[in-house]
Amino acid sequence: MSLSTASATHTIREGAFGNGTHLSCRACGAKTELGPFYACMECFGPLEVGYEFPTITREQIEAGPKNIWRYQPLLPVPTDVASFPNTEPGYTRLIDAGNLARELGLRKLWVKDDSGNPTHSFKDRVVASALSATRELGMKVFACPSTGNLANAVAAAAARAGIRSVVFIPKDLERPKIITTAVYGGTLVAVDGNYDDVNKLASEIAGEEDGWAFVNVNVRPYYSEGSKTLAFEIAEQLGWRIPQQVVIPVASGSQLTKIDKGFTELGKLGLVDATDYKIYGAQATGCSPVAQAFRDGHDVVKPVKPDTIAKSLAIGNPADGPYVLDVARRTGGVIEDVSDEEVIEGIQLLARTEGIFTETAGGVTIATLKKLIATGQIDPDAETVIINSGDGLKTLDAVADRVGPKVTIPASYDAFVKAGLQ
Ligand SMILES: *Cc1c(COP(=O)(O)O)cnc(C)c1O
Ligand SMILES: [Zn+2]
Repeated sequence: MSLSTASATHTIREGAFGNGTHLSCRACGAKTELGPFYACMECFGPLEVGYEFPTITREQIEAGPKNIWRYQPLLPVPTDVASFPNTEPGYTRLIDAGNLARELGLRKLWVKDDSGNPTHSFKDRVVASALSATRELGMKVFACPSTGNLANAVAAAAARAGIRSVVFIPKDLERPKIITTAVYGGTLVAVDGNYDDVNKLASEIAGEEDGWAFVNVNVRPYYSEGSKTLAFEIAEQLGWRIPQQVVIPVASGSQLTKIDKGFTELGKLGLVDATDYKIYGAQATGCSPVAQAFRDGHDVVKPVKPDTIAKSLAIGNPADGPYVLDVARRTGGVIEDVSDEEVIEGIQLLARTEGIFTETAGGVTIATLKKLIATGQIDPDAETVIINSGDGLKTLDAVADRVGPKVTIPASYDAFVKAGLQ
């Protein structure tokens, strides 16, 4: 398999990656030029974007558009990125979750509600930065293996950008996620296998086909930088501060590691005081390889076969697993997991207390927060932020048989009184 998949003739324009200056290997530190590369030439480790930042001010950022492009100077995207058609994700609500905090016994809790993105999950952020890289690298097909939300985001962004999309999903995906992908009109391919099988197939195709940009495979270094915008927005919305504790759902682990990278960059740039923070990871017990490795004190993650209702987190062989362990241990956080029953209760708890209907991944995060408090692993007096990464309308089945009308009555006032509804 080749490590590069762009067309050989394309010239990368000046400033194509903003203040990004190179790619560096997260395993061995070897540096390479910016380009269509994703694995280290020395050790096959994953590559990430490195930068040389100029002075960046809060005022400069605050004057930017009300979407992730306000952080353009901190992303591997060109200064004119916002002028290309894209879904304009980001700038989602940071909700003061007082009711949920009281119920859980926390002093201060915020919910970063990323269900407010264009295709209702945090994936629109990473897809937007991957789309920019795909364009700048001259790649022609926008593709991904997906557990659902990424499929939505890739198909929508491709439709808007007017490029071809090919999305690969496990054939047993939730029906709403299939419909909400197919509606955008790209090519949707159901694969007879689980996500890890689909991911393997995508790597194979990426290695063989010129110009295919699998957002989370061969343009992953650019894709994952999009998650930093969650950290940037949280800090900006708190009045340019880093919260003390953050609880984040873990699938491949990209989001969690990049939220950490985002906070670190803000501190280094002097945009916030570089205060300490703890990063916590949330998994479903039916797919909890990272939580298991954390408990066992291992620094490698043993792959598992997923079996959970939290399908958007069901990655049995998470690419960023070891880096998630590293972030949690370095910051003093924990990776925990919760049962599917707890996930469902978590969904209902957030809905009942804050009026936010989250998907199963959000149920995992809420339930994990609850467990961390109950087991004394998180400080109830420290300011805490949790990520709601997706929308409950996409995973209705999780709660469908738990909720419904209290009673059915005839359309008469008498019946209303008789049913005791006054
Ligand atoms: C993809 C996804 C995540 C986590 O993704 P990572 O692969 O860990 O970056 C979390 N929540 C939802 C709803 C997702 O779709
Ligand atoms: Zn390396």
